[in-house]
Amino acid sequence: MNLPRQPRETRGHGLEPLAVLPVFLDLKGKRVVLAGNNAGAPWKVKLLAAAGAHVDVYAAEAGEELRAVPGATVAGQAVLHERAWTATDLDGAAFAIGAMEDEDDCVAFVAAARARGVIVNAVDRPHLCDVKFGAIVNRSPLVVGISTEGAAPVFGQTVRARIEAMLPQGFKAWVGAARDWRETVTARLHGFAERRGFWERLTDRAFAEPDRAPTETDFAELMAETEAAPKGGAVTLVGAGPGDVELLTLKALRALRNADVILYDDLVAPEILDYARREARTMLVGKSGYGPSCRQDDINALMVQLAKSGKQVVRLKSGDPLVFGRAGEEIEACRLAGVPVRVVPGVTAAQGAAASIGVSLTHRDAARRLQYVTGHDRRGALPDDLNWGALADGSVTTVVYMPKKTLRGLLDRAVAEGLAPTTPALVVFNATRPNQTVLRGTAADLAERVDASGGQGPAILMVGEALALGVAAAETPVSEAALAV
Ligand code: SAH
Repeated sequence: MNLPRQPRETRGHGLEPLAVLPVFLDLKGKRVVLAGNNAGAPWKVKLLAAAGAHVDVYAAEAGEELRAVPGATVAGQAVLHERAWTATDLDGAAFAIGAMEDEDDCVAFVAAARARGVIVNAVDRPHLCDVKFGAIVNRSPLVVGISTEGAAPVFGQTVRARIEAMLPQGFKAWVGAARDWRETVTARLHGFAERRGFWERLTDRAFAEPDRAPTETDFAELMAETEAAPKGGAVTLVGAGPGDVELLTLKALRALRNADVILYDDLVAPEILDYARREARTMLVGKSGYGPSCRQDDINALMVQLAKSGKQVVRLKSGDPLVFGRAGEEIEACRLAGVPVRVVPGVTAAQGAAASIGVSLTHRDAARRLQYVTGHDRRGALPDDLNWGALADGSVTTVVYMPKKTLRGLLDRAVAEGLAPTTPALVVFNATRPNQTVLRGTAADLAERVDASGGQGPAILMVGEALALGVAAAETPVSEAALAV
């Protein structure tokens, strides 16, 4: 017997092992010691000074380039001491860098630093480093650090170049303004959601007009917009798409970033929850269509109650929320309770499946109409009020959601009602996911093939002459590259 499930809280997803922990070191006004004069030394001194450090450089035989550094810093300060380092030079340092040619000298330096509790880096000697430098994209106060943990420096450089191209220079001014306004915003806006609203509006403006420096007028307008925005909780029905994370919309991403609580279905791919705000509560409200489900009334009540307590609730549904998702009932429940509700569409399973096998669902000659049908009624049986005339129509593409239990009955009846038995028909299991599989056949023989395959996971049935192209192409799967136009 399938007892109804209760919504249950799920733990955070997706913390994978980290090769290194990126942390950002504040060196403003702090003393840093660099010893040695190898080729990497001059740049490191400039970099440390640029971060606001006071850099004491110890090098017995400084080259010309290193000598020029103290006069060429953009911030902080560099002082060159033309002598060998001694252990007491490390007293009171916040950070130390060994830049000497000689390995033994460097080992001694690292040991002296560690003995004083000073974190240390050794240029070109990863085995001696407590911390390592990454590639940097600098829009200070916005700073991006990139590491491949020594695995692929060229890869890291290419990533850096891409990020450089993505981040307009003007972000410097916008993030700077955010820093200057932060205190006032915290003092004036009290709720988390409200403050977040302000920062989101500011970020939107920055992305829209990156090359314009923000002004006090921007501040006033952003504040006025935020204060005028409706307060309190709300519900957003969000389409998670069929599985592939890259099919999430930007709006869906934003809703996930904003959510206090996420109520999600079994069919939502777990990777998608990785895009939620880390502090968000995630609750599985289990409606898979196959196993036991939570009662719809319980889900509605929970959603409304959370929103009324001031939470931003995301109701995350597979595919598009408005396609076979009982969204109507959830929207109605919110409206009746006076809770603001909005919908963020998603890529529905039919669209995901069609795209990943490269078939057109419509065709000028073969399919002038497209219909989405459910293979399930309330009891899980074939609905008896299906329009069989429409299902037997040879000039339509039919997509059947939840087809597994009733596939044979549906196809047999469609053929009995006049659909040509040779009509191409296919089932896509786990559309857009790494374990996607496709079974192809005809209206007459597909059920047999599906039974024989024992395919697992969510599946969608597609029937119609327009799919013939996909069937013909069965032997040569449409590669991602071929589709990536
Ligand atoms: N709102 C969803 C549909 C929910 S009904 C959407 O727009 O896609 C659940 C049914 O959707 C499943 O029984 C299955 O038929 C289909 N489905 C959802 N995700 C799927 C996937 N990745 N591959 C194949 N079918 C899927």
